[in-house]
Amino acid sequence: MTISESNDLSRLCIHSITTKPWPIEEAAKHYAAAGVKGITVWRDALEGKNIQKTGQLLRDHDLSIVSLCRGGFFPAKDAAKRKLAIDDNRKAIEEAAQLGAPLIVLVCGADPGQPLAISRQQIQEGIAAIIPDAAAAGVKLAIEPLHPMYADTRSAINTLAQANEMAEVLNSPWVGVAVDVYHLWWDPCLEAEIKRCGQNENLMAFHVCDWKSPTTDMLLDRGLMGEGCIPIKQIRKWVEGTGFNGFIEVEIFSNRWWKEDQHLFLKQIVKASREYV
Ligand code: ZN
Repeated sequence: MTISESNDLSRLCIHSITTKPWPIEEAAKHYAAAGVKGITVWRDALEGKNIQKTGQLLRDHDLSIVSLCRGGFFPAKDAAKRKLAIDDNRKAIEEAAQLGAPLIVLVCGADPGQPLAISRQQIQEGIAAIIPDAAAAGVKLAIEPLHPMYADTRSAINTLAQANEMAEVLNSPWVGVAVDVYHLWWDPCLEAEIKRCGQNENLMAFHVCDWKSPTTDMLLDRGLMGEGCIPIKQIRKWVEGTGFNGFIEVEIFSNRWWKEDQHLFLKQIVKASREYV
C-alpha cells in the first residue's frame, strides 16, 4: 500500500472542540474545503442552535457526522445527582438522533467522595438504564477509558480492559468502546485489549492526538500528532488489524493551538494526519 492510499483524507474526522474558536458553521465550511470528510460534534457547539438544521448543514458540506461528544458522568454519591445524569444522557441521545449522529462517546465520570469501585458500579447501572433509549433512537454508546490522571472526577474507567469488561457485561449491540491514543498509549496490555474489543465487535471509535513531553496542563495541553511520544502508527495498525475501518478522529484540546490562527492549525492537522497517523 502506498502512502497516498493509506493516508488519504477519506477517513479523517475532526472533533469540533479541536478548532474551538470556530462556531460549528465555520468549522464545517473550512473542514470541507480542506478535504476533511468527518466531524464529531461536541455538545457545547450545539448550544442555542436548531440541532436538526445543524445536522443538515454538516451533511450539506458532505461531512459524515461520526459521533456526538459527550455523554456519561454517571457516578455521584448523591442519588438525585445520579438521576439528573441519567436524564442528561437521555437528552444527549435525543440530540444525537436529531443531529443524525450514530454514536455518543461516554466520558463515564467519577466522584472523588466515594471509592472507585462504587463509581464503576454506578457507571454500569447508568449505562444499563439508558440502553433502551439508545436502542429506540438507533444511537450507539461508546465507553471511552480515560487516562488514570482523571480517575478522581472524570472517569473511573481508566484502561481498555475495564471498558471491554463493562461492554461485555452489558452485552448489548448498542454498547461498545472508544480507543483514544492519548488515554491508552502507555498501557502494556493495549495490543491485546484492542484485539479483544475487535473480536467482540465492540470497537466503535478511534481518537488521535499526541502526548507532549513535558505536558504542562493535565487537560488542555494535548499535542498535534507528531509533537509527542505516542506511537500512533503502531496503535492504528493494531486498531485496523481488528477490521476497524471507521474514521480516524483528531481530538485536540490545546490552549496553545486555540491561540493560533485556526486556518493554519487546520492545515497542520491535515499534514500531520498524512505524516504521523
Ligand atoms: Zn477521545
